[in-house]
Amino acid sequence: MKDQTNRIPPATEPERQYYYIDLASGLLKERAGRLNHSLTFHVTTFGCQMNAKDSEKMYGIMDRMGLTYCEEEKDADIVLFNTCTIRDNANQKFYGHLGSLNDKNHRNPGRIVMVCGCMMQEPECVKRIIEGYRIVNIIFGTHNIYKLAELMCEHLMSGRFVSDVWDRPGEIVEDIPSRLKYPFKAGVNIMYGCNNYCTYCIVPYVRGPERSRNAKDVICECEKLASEGVKEVMLLGQNVNSYGNGIKDCITFPELLKEVERVEGIERIRFMTSHPKDLSDDLINVMKGSSKICRHIHLPLQSGSSRILKAMNRRYTKEQYLELAKKIRDELPQTSITTDIIVGFPGETSEDIDDTIDVIKQVSFDGAFTFVYSPRTGTPAASMPGRPSGEWIKHEFDRVLTAVQEESRKRAGLFTGSIQDVLVEGISEQDPSLVSGRMSNNLIVHFPADASLIGKICDVKLIDCRGFYYIGERL
Ligand code: SF4
Repeated sequence: MKDQTNRIPPATEPERQYYYIDLASGLLKERAGRLNHSLTFHVTTFGCQMNAKDSEKMYGIMDRMGLTYCEEEKDADIVLFNTCTIRDNANQKFYGHLGSLNDKNHRNPGRIVMVCGCMMQEPECVKRIIEGYRIVNIIFGTHNIYKLAELMCEHLMSGRFVSDVWDRPGEIVEDIPSRLKYPFKAGVNIMYGCNNYCTYCIVPYVRGPERSRNAKDVICECEKLASEGVKEVMLLGQNVNSYGNGIKDCITFPELLKEVERVEGIERIRFMTSHPKDLSDDLINVMKGSSKICRHIHLPLQSGSSRILKAMNRRYTKEQYLELAKKIRDELPQTSITTDIIVGFPGETSEDIDDTIDVIKQVSFDGAFTFVYSPRTGTPAASMPGRPSGEWIKHEFDRVLTAVQEESRKRAGLFTGSIQDVLVEGISEQDPSLVSGRMSNNLIVHFPADASLIGKICDVKLIDCRGFYYIGERL
């Protein structure tokens, strides 16, 4: 083992973290020697694409510390939970899971348990874990995931519980190791945080204010990924359309897309998420002129009622949303539009739901995630009066879901008989004689082929639409 303990850690990032990765690697080797087996880790990720991206970075750090990935959480020596706090039932499920681990932990007393992510930005969640779940050894938040190795060293050297949660973001630290889930597609953060403060949403409080990454760093990351064999990048941010806002000399999101399009080796570009209030004509024009930007826009509606949208602080009306969706349908006819819808917002009535269903029918969404409103402590909506009853929510939720399913079924069927380029992602889980992949518009296609096509883009004829996916044949 390299003796790092007497060296002074570098003061600047990311050098400081590479120092700690080396140090942790040596300390873990010693621990493995004592336990007489090589050490493994498991990462469980809850929530959105941003969390999935953060987990890839933490996976990369642990890989670099010399740990081996273990598929089964119960067998791993080091387990990491990257949490989500967007809905209360997700929090409750997580506590339940942690409780069950408590029992299993008796079988592996040397296990190190780490918890990070959005839940840890809420002081009451941290308090509950500290008081009720003594198996947890390390806690950190969303702003300092890059410090995983440093926190691990602190725990390994002291043997004590370590908690490091920042209530506001620090510098953006680039060039930390990352390990992709799929070697052929990758998420790339272009910004962090959110300034929109939708009244139901906890994200601005747990992820901090909006910060855009330098465009040069984004492009460099895309070039590096392309050189490693990545074909598809997903540009990630809570509101990608406001990329660069408020930063002197920073390019806009459509300009950034044009730059990414120039990266040799990148064949597909996706982005997530678009706030309807900021989606510009420039973006539509750039998409029209691009052969690489995928034909899919996720455009969260949340409600079709202008009254509820105002209470949600979404800053667009039903009519403005419809106008935007029509523009996308007219200008980019092959593009699928998917959305998020909340049912049961305080003060919502059946007439408001009628408006939502009207938008669902007029836009004819290709897909939608429908959620029951979940009050989050600290957000303005949590103290708004007029929360609908559970019975009302169930009834109205079913009405919304039926409308969504009818429309997405209609839309999916439109492509039967066409030839589409499909990025093959893996062997079908249902039938090993088929592979599964995604079309540019994000629909899934299964077709007969073997694993040699994984990671390749193929021309596939769509033979049969089975509701929300296709069966195809390779040309
Ligand atoms: S845009 Fe609204 S819903 Fe989306 S992350 Fe920001 S505050 Fe939350």
